[in-house]
Amino acid sequence: MARRPAIARLLAAAAGLLALAPAGAAERADLIVSNALVLTMDGSGTVLEPGVVVVRGDSIAAVGGPELLARYEADTVLDAGGDIAMPGMINLHNHLPMVAFRGLGENGVADRLFRFFFPLEKALLSRELIRTASRQAAIELALSGVTLVADMYYHEDEVARSVAEVGIRGVLGETVIGFPVVDAPEPFGGLAYAERFIAEWKGHPLVTPAVAPHAPYTVPPEWLLRSKALAEREGVPVLIHMAEFAHERELIAERIGAFPAGASVVRYLEDIGFLSDALLAAHVIYVDAEDQQILKRRDVGIAHNPKANGRGNTGMSPAWEMFENGLDLGLGTDGPMSSNQMDVLDVMTHAAAVARFLGGDATRFTPRELLYLATVGGARALDREDELGSLEVGKKADLVIVDAHAPNVQPVYDPYASVALGAYPENVRTTIVNGRLVVRDRVLLTVDMDAHWREWTALTGRVAEFAKTLE
Ligand SMILES: [Zn+2]
Repeated sequence: MARRPAIARLLAAAAGLLALAPAGAAERADLIVSNALVLTMDGSGTVLEPGVVVVRGDSIAAVGGPELLARYEADTVLDAGGDIAMPGMINLHNHLPMVAFRGLGENGVADRLFRFFFPLEKALLSRELIRTASRQAAIELALSGVTLVADMYYHEDEVARSVAEVGIRGVLGETVIGFPVVDAPEPFGGLAYAERFIAEWKGHPLVTPAVAPHAPYTVPPEWLLRSKALAEREGVPVLIHMAEFAHERELIAERIGAFPAGASVVRYLEDIGFLSDALLAAHVIYVDAEDQQILKRRDVGIAHNPKANGRGNTGMSPAWEMFENGLDLGLGTDGPMSSNQMDVLDVMTHAAAVARFLGGDATRFTPRELLYLATVGGARALDREDELGSLEVGKKADLVIVDAHAPNVQPVYDPYASVALGAYPENVRTTIVNGRLVVRDRVLLTVDMDAHWREWTALTGRVAEFAKTLE
C-alpha cells in the first residue's frame, strides 16, 4: 500500500500540545493506564517507568510520566501496578478457522495434508464452522495480546464477523485458488467472492478486507494479476504464500506450466508484474540476495513464521538478512494446524533460535529487535506504521499489559528480554484495541462465553466423530 504521509499524526500531536489545559482544568479522556512500565517501541526506544498512557476515542492522546494524571481525567483508570504496557502484538499470518482441526494427525502421519487437512475441509467446512472457529481463535488471540491478525481462508466475511465481535483487528484475505472450494464452486471463484466481501467490509474500523491468491503454484499468472488489479482498484492488501517450499519452482512448473529457466519464485512473480507494496507474503524462505533486493524495491511486506516452518520442516528463512537489509518483516504463526499456538510471544523465541542457528551467531535478534518485529515490524509490513505498532500520540490505541510479577517474567532487569524471551500468553492481563477494553485482568469482555462454548463444543464434537474415520 502507498505510504500515508505522517501528517495525520503530526496534526494530532500538535493538537495535543495546543490543548495543554491551564492549571486546574483536567482534560477529558476515555481511558488511562497508569503506573505502568511503558515500552513505547517508538523510534528512540523510549521506556517510561513509571509511565502513563492516555486514550481518547480510538487513539492515544498522550504518553508520558505521572504528571499526565493531573492533566487528564477519565472514567476508567487502570492502575497497572508496575506491570508492562506495550503495543499490541501483530500476528501476520494465520488461518483462524483451522483451529477446529487443531491437534489432529499429529502422530507421525507422513501425508497429513492429504490424509487429514483436505478430507476434513471437504467434509466439514461450512459458514457456521468458519464463524464459530474464527471466534474461538480470535478469543485466544485477544487473550494472548494479539491486537491484529492477518488471515487467509474461505468465507472470510464470517471470519470478519467473528474477529469484529471479539474486538481485535483483522486484515482478512479471501482465498483465490484454482479448484472448487467451500465458498466457490468454480475454480478461482474466490475472486468474485473477494469483490463482494471487500464491498461489504471496506471502511470498517477493525476489519481490513483483502484478497488472497493462495500461492504461485495454485494460482496462474492471469489470476494473480486479476487479484492484484482488484486490490489496486479497491486500495486493499494482497496476501499470498510465497517461496515456502524448496521445490516450489517445480510445483509451479508442474501445475501452472513452464517455469522460466534460472528464475527464482520471486523473480518469476516480479517478471509477471505481480509484486507491489500492497503485497503481504508469508514464509519467504527460499530467497537469495537478488530476490531480497527486489522485495525491498517493491516494498513487499513479509510474514516470518519460524515456528510453523520448523514444525512443518519446510525450511529456515534468512529473516535476519532480510531484517538487516531493511525489508519490512513481521512475525506470524501460520494456521493452528501448523503452529498450534497462536500467540506471537513464543514466535519471538523461535525467530531468535532460527537466526542464531543459521548464522552461528548468538547475537542475532536482541530482545528489543524481537519485540520490534512483533509490533512495529508487523505494522510496517502492512504499511500501517503511521497508525499502528507503537505507543505514540495520534496512533491507534492498541496496547496490552503484561504481568511483570509472574514468576516466569521475573526478574525484570531488561523488560524487553522479560517479555520477548520470558512471557507466556497467559501473562497478558489486559488487551485494549482501538481504544476499547477487550480483555481486562484475563477476562474477555466482549463475547458471551456460555453461548460460544455451546457452539464450540457442538462443532468439535462433530469434528471428533469425523476424525475417527481418518485414522
Ligand atoms: Zn499459511
